[in-house]
Amino acid sequence: MFFEVRYSDLAGRIGKIKTPSGTIETPAFIPVVHPVSQSVDVEFLKKLGFEAVITNAYITLKQYGDIAREKGIHEIINFDGPIMTDSGGYQVLEYGTIDLEPSFIAQFEKDIESDICVPLDKPTGYGLSYEVAERYVDETIRNSKETLDLIKSNNNTNSIWVGPVQGAEHLDLVKKSAGLLDDMGYEMMALGSPVQLLVSYQFAILANIIATLKSTIMSKPIHLFGAGHPLTIPLAVALGCDTFDSASYILYARDNRYMHPNGTSKLDNLTYLACQCPTCISMTAKEFISLKDDERTVELAKHNLYVLRSEVLSVRQAIMEGRLWDYVAQKARAHPKLMEAFKLFKNYKYLEDATPLYKKKAIFFMESIDQYRPEASRIRRILSTFRTDKKKIVLFPDTEVSPFYCSQEYFKLSKKFSDYQICAYNPFIGMIPIEISDIYPVAHNVISKKKFNCNSSKDYPTFVSSLQEFLSCNFFDEILIVADDFMQGIIQDIQITSKNLKVIENSNGVIDQL
Ligand SMILES: [Zn+2]
Repeated sequence: MFFEVRYSDLAGRIGKIKTPSGTIETPAFIPVVHPVSQSVDVEFLKKLGFEAVITNAYITLKQYGDIAREKGIHEIINFDGPIMTDSGGYQVLEYGTIDLEPSFIAQFEKDIESDICVPLDKPTGYGLSYEVAERYVDETIRNSKETLDLIKSNNNTNSIWVGPVQGAEHLDLVKKSAGLLDDMGYEMMALGSPVQLLVSYQFAILANIIATLKSTIMSKPIHLFGAGHPLTIPLAVALGCDTFDSASYILYARDNRYMHPNGTSKLDNLTYLACQCPTCISMTAKEFISLKDDERTVELAKHNLYVLRSEVLSVRQAIMEGRLWDYVAQKARAHPKLMEAFKLFKNYKYLEDATPLYKKKAIFFMESIDQYRPEASRIRRILSTFRTDKKKIVLFPDTEVSPFYCSQEYFKLSKKFSDYQICAYNPFIGMIPIEISDIYPVAHNVISKKKFNCNSSKDYPTFVSSLQEFLSCNFFDEILIVADDFMQGIIQDIQITSKNLKVIENSNGVIDQL
């Protein structure tokens, strides 16, 4: 296997992609290197730990032709690690068309010994009508077929060939495109041309596109073209992109834009440099601004690369610690458009598949969106299958002591209500029968102690379903609810049909008064 996964969280994966020129640890940011005019030395990229770079095969062909065939791409751009080559699809997006056959450029990519190759595609960009987008998808599929036929006939099995998935916001085209490329035998997928979406911060549309691709192709590695913004990296990784490339470090630098963990700022507007990279600690903001144009651009590009490096490492560490959800949630607060995309996570059932069943640390529940954490959705499903023959139930707020059966409250309740089903409740997890109150993450979560308002039922639909389903699937003649603020908000809004329903406000010593 050329791709091995070691750890995962949400759909983010720490793994290794093996290429003929070395291994790439994922998730990986792959900086764009210009084959002719590269401003930042590739040695510097390597020093920063970027294990692979991407360059453009079309420009290389136009500029070097046979020299590139003879020397190989590694010598041309002076990088001995894994090199990915884009075939020229981006030029198609920029200039409409390019004057080459797909098989010709594929042969060239093979001749220059690229490690990860992309066939010539026809990017759909964003905003095309369905009919035009479908035509582009069909053309890309034809090109990809022609490319793969050529590669197979050459017995070239070393390089990794990447299937270019097009279709953009037309999700059924994305699905069709991914399915066909998968069937053809492409080992890796690349999501084409989201640049316009990224530039206009249309993160929610991008999230839906990635989720569609990922739901179609679960196991193969996925590359995202053009993602080099500190905010998009955690989003893309969480949704399942393993590698992503961009020239953002230099493009932003040319535009005098300084990256920071939550976005970018114009360098001229900065008074302080909070970054700890060698450039930023060696000078003040004022000194940075007053550097000569060329020098400033290169220094700014280097700083931007440090920020991207830090972002990728932070995301990897979050995966290792099982905290990718929290990390994305924190990032989502940096921009409303990212929050919009984060809120869609509740629709992506596949995020559960790669989230570990058990984590070393307790998970955090802060606010209503956290009820959709994959760990919470999964445990609600398990808890909902619980059935009891008991005819009476007492519902009690989950305690600080975990599991619930170790708490003083349970000790007292079990003495007083020995023939009752005893059940704790938790706004994020739902009903917790005492018999299974020690499974993960029922006994392994921390809840923020804020007071819940009376919109509980609207804000916590998963809790309402859990409560209603639990009561309707078991047959209780008597229901006793010790209601905290949260539960009071819930039962104000919903109908509980029982001949014998008793609700008592929770307070210190409430059990003694029951
Ligand atoms: Zn810096």
